[in-house]
This record gives sequence, structure tokens and C-alpha cells, in this order.
Amino acid sequence: AEGINKIKPEYLRSFLFESRLMLSTWIVVRIDGCHFHRFCEDNGFQKPNDEQALKLMNSCAASLLEMFKDIIFAYGVSDEYSFVLKKDTLLYQRRSSEIVSAVVSLFSSMYVMKWKEFFPEKEFKEPPYFDGRSVCYPSSKILRDYLAWRQVDCHINNQYNTCFWLLVKSGKSRTEAQSSLKGTQTQEKNELLAQFGIDYNGLPIIFRMGSSVFLDRDEATGNDRVVVEHCSIIETSFWKEHPRILD
Ligand code: ATP
Ligand code: ATP
Ligand code: MG
Ligand code: MG
Ligand code: MG
Ligand code: MG
Repeated sequence: AEGINKIKPEYLRSFLFESRLMLSTWIVVRIDGCHFHRFCEDNGFQKPNDEQALKLMNSCAASLLEMFKDIIFAYGVSDEYSFVLKKDTLLYQRRSSEIVSAVVSLFSSMYVMKWKEFFPEKEFKEPPYFDGRSVCYPSSKILRDYLAWRQVDCHINNQYNTCFWLLVKSGKSRTEAQSSLKGTQTQEKNELLAQFGIDYNGLPIIFRMGSSVFLDRDEATGNDRVVVEHCSIIETSFWKEHPRILD
């Protein structure tokens, strides 16, 4: 266009709305797979839990901790991962859109790059992708409440899904399975599992607890390394045993 050279960049930059996340708060970026209900079905994930798919998620999360040193802890379940950034991080000057987009795009790239390592025999048809959001938590107590909320959610969903898929695999339609579970409490679900000879607490811990990723000292070398554990992060004992995570 005519006169394009006269347009000053400052004029266009003045339209940019920058949202910076509050200083001295823990930033949590939670990513979640988009349309994974369909993605799981298309790729024949085992139901209710495909262990390889969870391990792929964990491996991607571990890469993020290696590449972004300011991520100090991550918790994952199903198609989601929460990344906790240290409270004094100045990554991207704490600009939300840059932090979230970098985390989401790196995670999606890693997921595609590592796919073959976990599913050597499978080729996906639709590209997997994730969305993300950021939230600031102003105290370690509230941050731990947030993480506990995700882990409780993991338990509730896993218990429900385990029952649901047992009913479906025993011949019920999905609608029948859904309606027979409607309004049931933990106790009734445990009784249902018992009827199928399943002790909930005997299920693999990765399904029941989700996955926590953090840096831990390697006693042999004295260096820090990224570890993936499946443990209760609701209990304060985890945080007492790993005081360096939240200092
Ligand atoms: P949205 O785009 O809104 O997030 P979604 O289809 O991804 O939609 P979610 O609520 O995120 O819905 O649920 C994730 C779905 O993916 C659930 O159906 C869950 O059972 C399934 N899923 C995720 N990971 C696994 C896994 N490792 N094994 C089996 N199923 C999985
Ligand atoms: P940042 O992470 O801050 O964005 P950057 O290294 O990506 O750092 P940019 O300012 O985005 O820096 O610049 C992109 C760089 O990539 C430039 O050096 C540019 O020359 C190079 N580059 C991008 N696309 C091409 C291309 N198609 N051919 C050659 N060089 C390219
Ligand atoms: Mg979503
Ligand atoms: Mg999803
Ligand atoms: Mg989800
Ligand atoms: Mg840039």
C-alpha cells in the first residue's frame, strides 16, 4: 500500500495487550489433550487406561523439565499435565501468552517425536494437539491444594472408568453401564469391583495416583536428575520428603 513506509511500528505495537502473571506466585500451566476421547479411540488405546499412552505423556513432561529449568514440578493424569513454575521465574518476563504457548507447543512436538518410541506399530491419522492455560497460586498451601484437587480427580475418574469398562466388557451397552453407575458412591463402586474379583487398591499405582515429575538428587553421582513417581501428593509427607521442590 501507498505510504507503508510511514507507518511507525510503535503505533502497531501499541495495540498489543500484554498480560503478565503476578510476581512471587507459583505459575501453573495446565495442558490438556484436545478431543482425546476420539484420539484414544482412533488409536486403539486400552480402556480404561492405556499404560503406554501414560508413559508417553510422562516422557514428554520429563523433557519439559529438562528444557525449562524454571519448571520445578509436574503432575499428570489422563490427557492432562500441570506444570509448576518456580515462584520467582522471569521466563518471558512472566508474559502468560508466551509461557503457555511455548509449553503447549513443546509438549505437542515432543508427543509427536516420541510417539514411535511408545507405539512402534501405530501411525496416527489425526495430529494430536493440546490446549493450555495458566493460573497463579499465591502460597505453597494453595498450590498443594490445587495439586491435591487434580489427584483426587484422577482417583474419582479412575474408579468410575474402571467400573464403566468392566460393565461394558461384561456385555452391557455404554448407556446401560452409564445409567447403572449414576449416583453411586465409592462404597457401591468398590462392591461392584469386588463382584468382578477386583481390589481397587491392587490396580497399578500409575492409574490410581497419576504421575509426578520432579528433580531429585542422584545419590551415586550427586547430580540432579528428572524422576517420575506415582505417589500421594495429597499427604504432606511427600512435601516433607522433598523440601527442595517448593523451598
Ligand atoms: P477436550 O478437547 O474438551 O479436552 P477430550 O475428549 O480430550 O475433550 P477429556 O475430558 O480431556 O476429553 O478426557 C480425555 C479422554 O481421553 C477421556 O475419555 C480419557 O478416558 C481418555 N484418555 C486419556 N488418556 C488415556 C489413556 N492413557 N488411556 C485411555 N484413555 C485415555
Ligand atoms: P526467539 O526464541 O527469541 O524467537 P529466535 O532465534 O527464534 O529467538 P527470531 O528473532 O525469532 O529469533 O529470529 C528467527 C531466526 O531464524 C532468524 O535468525 C532468522 O534468520 C532465522 N530463520 C527463520 N526462518 C528462516 C528461514 N526460512 N531461512 C533462514 N533463516 C530463517
Ligand atoms: Mg480441554
Ligand atoms: Mg482433553
Ligand atoms: Mg482431560
Ligand atoms: Mg520470540
